[in-house]
Amino acid sequence: MISFYPGPSRIYPKVSRYMADACREGVVSINHRSAMFMDIYRQTDALFRQKLKLPDGYTLYFVSSATECWEIVAQSLTGSKSVHIFNGAFGQKWHRYAARLVQALPAEFDLQQAPVPVTYAGADVICLTQNETSNGTQLTPGVLKKFRTLNPATLIAVDATSSMGGIDLPWQQADVWFASVQKCFGLPAGMGILVCSPAALHRAETVGNTNHYNSLLYLEEMRQKWQTSYTPNVLTVYLLMRSLADSKTIEQIQVAVKNRFKKWAVFFDTKSTQLNLLVQNKTVRSFTVLAIKGQPDVVTKVKSEASKAGFLLGEGYGIWKENTFRIANFPALKRSEIAKLMDFMYRFI
Ligand SMILES: *Cc1c(COP(=O)(O)O)cnc(C)c1O
Repeated sequence: MISFYPGPSRIYPKVSRYMADACREGVVSINHRSAMFMDIYRQTDALFRQKLKLPDGYTLYFVSSATECWEIVAQSLTGSKSVHIFNGAFGQKWHRYAARLVQALPAEFDLQQAPVPVTYAGADVICLTQNETSNGTQLTPGVLKKFRTLNPATLIAVDATSSMGGIDLPWQQADVWFASVQKCFGLPAGMGILVCSPAALHRAETVGNTNHYNSLLYLEEMRQKWQTSYTPNVLTVYLLMRSLADSKTIEQIQVAVKNRFKKWAVFFDTKSTQLNLLVQNKTVRSFTVLAIKGQPDVVTKVKSEASKAGFLLGEGYGIWKENTFRIANFPALKRSEIAKLMDFMYRFI
């Protein structure tokens, strides 16, 4: 079965070798206070910086999930009020989680249009979902930049769970970025990656929240020793290190992802009448997750036939459950696998 599910998804083929190495080298049993773990953290940090072009001063943390990052932003960085700009299920969930902890204002926008950035007076943090996995939309660097320009003193936190590692993110346009490894990083599920700017750390000091094991202040205190505030997923940190060492730069990965996306877009825009991209506006389409819309009976048939043919497709999400399915366009998928799925899709156009 080839997984085109937009997370957990296909892992990079080399991961099985890294896992075998981890067992042989004893990485799977090491203590997270040991010199060996500290060295793995330090090396992963250096490789991440190099391959993903992280700016100097931005810091990297390992946490358990993207969901945990929603809470870290609320607890460690918000102080009193966050505003949540979203058009789909993940952005909405983030808002709901935050609303249990702080004052969180929702600002929904239409999925066929980019949000219109304004100045959010009184907000401590602006929360954006760069890639909305539920409906296949994304925020462009241009839109992110406008939020930044109009809100120079406000922290900006970005959920990039299904794009980090697949596209070249404009790090400077936000203060907090996070993802989990089971999407574009092509690794087994079970770890989150959190990136913070110097301004985010400064804010964490002002807020001064130390009530939680995952308070950003603790994460940073431990990071300075290349450690974590709790026993981390050591194996996955190691897999990330190995995978980054072998990976191309993010610019190169992005070129491949965009080219593959274009082929899919041409296919659904020009070759197919029954199946079309849910998002018509080309400027807001995600490069890494495609949501395909059709009549519910066609969608049901595509999914069941796909599973017989050895493809796992993503289910429609939330309000799009019945009339959409999703296709991951993550870098770990092989070109030959995508070609096979496209061949298969010809049966339904
Ligand atoms: C998958 C996903 C999440 C949740 O990730 P977890 O690792 O399950 O916490 C959050 N936001 C977006 C946009 C996602 O795609």
